[in-house]
Amino acid sequence: MNRKEPLCVRCAQTQRTCCQICEIYITPGDLDRIAAYTGESDFHEYRRPINPEYLDQDDDPLWAACVFRPDGTRRVLRRTEPDGCFFLGANGCRLPPDVRPLVCRLYPFEYTEQGLQSVSGTMCPTRLLAAGETLLESLGMDAETAEVWRRQLYAEIRRELPTAADLPAITAHAEGSQPTPRPHLSSPESAAVASSGSIPKAEVLPKTPSPCTSV
Ligand code: SF4
Ligand code: SF4
Repeated sequence: MNRKEPLCVRCAQTQRTCCQICEIYITPGDLDRIAAYTGESDFHEYRRPINPEYLDQDDDPLWAACVFRPDGTRRVLRRTEPDGCFFLGANGCRLPPDVRPLVCRLYPFEYTEQGLQSVSGTMCPTRLLAAGETLLESLGMDAETAEVWRRQLYAEIRRELPTAADLPAITAHAEGSQPTPRPHLSSPESAAVASSGSIPKAEVLPKTPSPCTSV
């Protein structure tokens, strides 16, 4: 394996990638940008999370209030099985970096409305990093850029609120609590990953590299 290749390429050669595994929530802003870029409108749908743990977002009340509808569904990119994301093509993501959903751009950071919390990367094969290489370096990520995207993400999800009058109560709740941060990139396999501390092994090797960060 060539350890000079981006980690996402190495990842796609050895396991199922986040683009193949995850459900991706898209903000109203993501929806507008993707529709304008693709000229398409059939790339999303409303679904309940496959992993029911993601219905429990008590660490991030604004997220819970904005993203989920009363029936527990949320706006996500369409997926095909076993290939994964609607936009995963032969050479990775078919969307340019500045059109990709903000949730995709922010991985592997964990965050809430209050700020960036940590670097998770539980789906990333960190065992493939070269000596001295960090996960963020390999993904072309940095905290400063991620914070800009995090702020944009929360500004855009506020557009989901029924009325602006709901905001003060939600924010006050968030500031008064110190729950455990939970990543917003959800996958049916992530609960198993988190509990085992290991990366899910590919049942079928992915056919394509799938860069899913800002590279
Ligand atoms: S960001 Fe996604 S594709 Fe890239 S290394 Fe991590 S899991 Fe693999
Ligand atoms: S980076 Fe692109 S291909 Fe990967 S999950 Fe996001 S939109 Fe889909």
